[in-house]
Amino acid sequence: MLGIIQDTPLVYWLLAVAFGLAIECTAKRKISLHHLCVNIASGILVLLSGYLIAAPIITGLAKIARSLVGVGWIDLRIFSETEFVSQIGAAALYLFIFDFFYYWWHRSQHVYPSLWEQHAVHHSDTEFGVTTFLRQHWTEVIFQAFLIHLPIIIAFRLTPVTFWVISGIIASFSFFTHLNLPIQLGSCAWLITSPQLHRLHHSKLPQHANHNFAAFFPVWDLVFGTYQAPIRDEFPPTGLMSNEKIESLTEVVGWPMRRWIATLTKMNRRLRR
Ligand SMILES: [Zn+2]
Ligand SMILES: [Zn+2]
Repeated sequence: MLGIIQDTPLVYWLLAVAFGLAIECTAKRKISLHHLCVNIASGILVLLSGYLIAAPIITGLAKIARSLVGVGWIDLRIFSETEFVSQIGAAALYLFIFDFFYYWWHRSQHVYPSLWEQHAVHHSDTEFGVTTFLRQHWTEVIFQAFLIHLPIIIAFRLTPVTFWVISGIIASFSFFTHLNLPIQLGSCAWLITSPQLHRLHHSKLPQHANHNFAAFFPVWDLVFGTYQAPIRDEFPPTGLMSNEKIESLTEVVGWPMRRWIATLTKMNRRLRR
């Protein structure tokens, strides 16, 4: 599973973005060049952060964990390593487990102010679309390495999944859920995250706040009481509820940093008193 982080699926990202943009353009969705550039530049920083910081950290920590407490405590190797259909099953199991950890990480980002400042960058996109997935703060991927990937590596022994299967699914699905298209699943919306359901999560309307945190399986929201079923043809405006705007790469990079520095400065002053 370490390979998922080490080999960031750059090719899949490029293909998924190009394909998604082509579909959005065909559907005559509004895409401004400035917005596109900010999102793509943010995505490049996320990839660099994944390659250069998160991957080495997680590899090192996994080695330490292996020698100290062992890894793969719960053996879930229930699928074959060779058959294609089994690989899909193994990938689905991995994603289901991944989504449990992602759910709690994502929910925490909406609860704790310091984490929200980081996640606000992703939610600040007022032109929700395929490239919104790229608009993340570069530090998020590092936090995820600690709080999602490392616990999974330690806790579970899973059937190894062919790299292109898992990375292809993760990349294409994450871009799919951000598509600015009227794709809705009606009464089956709880089965799998759709562009409509994830758009609801990005809504700037207060009635949609703090719902639908799962990336793949909304059943986690159902289980933990945060599922909100979309209404037919409900595609709300997106962006920060505070109406604050993050409109340049400098602001994307600096947004949580300035607030984190201010919080640390305040704490330091209090400690000195
Ligand atoms: Zn969120
Ligand atoms: Zn999103």
